[in-house]
This record gives sequence, structure tokens and C-alpha cells, in this order.
Amino acid sequence: MIDRNAPIFVTGHRGMVGSALVRRLKSAGFGNILTATRSELDLREQAAVDSWFDSHRPAHVIHAAGTVGGIQANATRPAEFLYDNLMIHATVLHAAYRTGVEKLLYLGSSCIYPRDCPQPIKEEYLLTGPLEKTNEAYAVAKIAGLKSCEAYRKQYGCRFISAMPTNLYGPNDNFDLTSSHVVPALIRKFHEARINGAAEVAVWGSGRPRREFLHVDDLADACLFLMDNYEGEETINVGSGEDLTIAALAELIRDAVCPGVRIAFDASMPDGTPRKLLDVSKLRALGWRHQTALAEGLASAYEWYCSRVAVAAA
Ligand code: GDP
Repeated sequence: MIDRNAPIFVTGHRGMVGSALVRRLKSAGFGNILTATRSELDLREQAAVDSWFDSHRPAHVIHAAGTVGGIQANATRPAEFLYDNLMIHATVLHAAYRTGVEKLLYLGSSCIYPRDCPQPIKEEYLLTGPLEKTNEAYAVAKIAGLKSCEAYRKQYGCRFISAMPTNLYGPNDNFDLTSSHVVPALIRKFHEARINGAAEVAVWGSGRPRREFLHVDDLADACLFLMDNYEGEETINVGSGEDLTIAALAELIRDAVCPGVRIAFDASMPDGTPRKLLDVSKLRALGWRHQTALAEGLASAYEWYCSRVAVAAA
């Protein structure tokens, strides 16, 4: 178990993942959680990151920062996704090595697996085939980060571990319709349909792709579990182990938010990867499994969204 009193740095603490990590670490009794806002520390700048590590001396790091987005943002801003993410992992990992950080957890993403790999996706399928085009730039940068963890471990003996989360949702998600992932987008679209009394809601693509979803609080719990219990070089998938079609997801969200409204599939928008389901048997064998059922998690994410909309309107 890692020391609850040692300083632990959570990068990206304002994001959905980082903020969930801070909540989980606080509830587990961590007394010295370090964070830095984007204006305090540009993680793409090695000199800035070096001097931040020199002065704050974290013992542990959970690296949750990154430039992220849904299918549309990834497809239209590939240079940004590649540059930002390459730089962010390079600076943080290097500073962690240089200042002797005791343990670091790097977060990958399930979209870095080959587009057409067998399902459910095992950790060893990484780099066995071509990537999905709509998020290739992001995936290449995240793969570089994952391989960097292995390289620093091999050359310098750093205790850098990595985890591969599936699609996440929850509080502090991005609800911007052009850059968000499917869950927050659909929560917002059905909510607005309810408020405006719309007859139908547009759902991108054919509705046939299959996706797996995990509540971000479950991911945060898994991250702490891995920091406490896992030392291996191999990355570990973190997911629920269950998937559903986008059409079924849309119906679940529709029924929770705006029952009765018609779903209209917009075939002019991309489907992306046909299926993305992680094989979570390694994590389960270590003794962890998720707690939040999808319907329950979606209801609580919608509650959070309503509270945020209410605050924005006040
Ligand atoms: P992906 O998992 O990397 O493909 O990212 P997304 O979460 O953005 O999209 C997942 C699937 O949901 C894709 O097949 C999208 O076409 C579909 N989808 C349906 N409606 C929406 C929407 O309003 N926004 C987004 N981002 N995706 C949608």
C-alpha cells in the first residue's frame, strides 16, 4: 500500500478523471494531494515541469492529464491531439524519473488498441494491427506514453505502471457537442429535447457500433487499487467487461431523460471502431471489479448535469 501521507501529484485534476482521482484519494485519507492548474503549469513545457517537480517533490504521480475528446474532435484536430499528448507524457515521465518519484501510474485509453482486433481486447493485442483512423493521432501519442513507461522501467528501474481505461463518463465530463464523447453528448441532447419539447434527437452514425462504459469513480477506485497492489510492466485493462450498441445506449439515456422522444440516426456522421470491449480478466484476477451498473451511473451523471445546468442558469 502506498503511503497516505507522502505527496501524490494528480495531473489533470480539473478533468473528469483527475477530479475523480482527487475525490477518491481524499476519501482514502491521502493528506498531501498535489495539483496544478493549466495556468500554473503548462505540462507541455519540460523546463516548467522540471522546476515544478524540483520544488514540490512528489513521491507518487497519477498521470491523468491529456488533451482528450470524442470522435469529431479527434478527427478534426489531429495535430493538436498528437503534439499535446506526446509532450505531456514526455515531460511528466522524464521529470518523475529525474526526481526519483517512487511510483507513477500512467493512464492510456482503450482506443489505442488496433481497430479490428479480436474482442474482448486483451492487453497483448496492443500494436498488432492498424489503428482506427478517427483517433489515430491521439492513439499514437498515448502508445508512445505507454512505451515510455516500459522504457524508463527497463533502463532506469522506475516503478512506472500503466492502466488502460475503457470509455468513461461521470461528473466533470465534457458536454460540448462538437468535442464530447457519446454519453455526455446524448445526455445533453436528450435533456435539451425535453426542455424544448423536440420530437426527435439525432444520434450519430448507424447506432450499430458497440461500446463499453465505466463510471469514472470506478476508474479512480481501480487506479488507487493498482497503485497499492500492482507492480508489473504490462498494462492492465480497466473496464466493466460489458458492452452494448450505441442504439441501446441511446435508448437507455432517452428512457432516463426524455421518454418517448424519437431517435433519428444520422448516417452522415462516422461510426468509428465497430466494437471496443476490454478483456478485464487480469484486473479481476488481481481482485478488483467495478461497482456502478450502467443505468445507475447514467442516472447519476444526468443528475450531475442537471445540477450544473441549474448553476449555469442561476
Ligand atoms: P469513440 O468511442 O472513440 O468512437 O468516441 P465517441 O464516444 O465520440 O463515439 C462513440 C460512438 O457513438 C460513435 O459510433 C459515434 O458516432 C456515436 N455517437 C452517436 N451520437 C453521438 C454524439 O452525439 N456524439 C458523439 N461523440 N458520438 C456519438
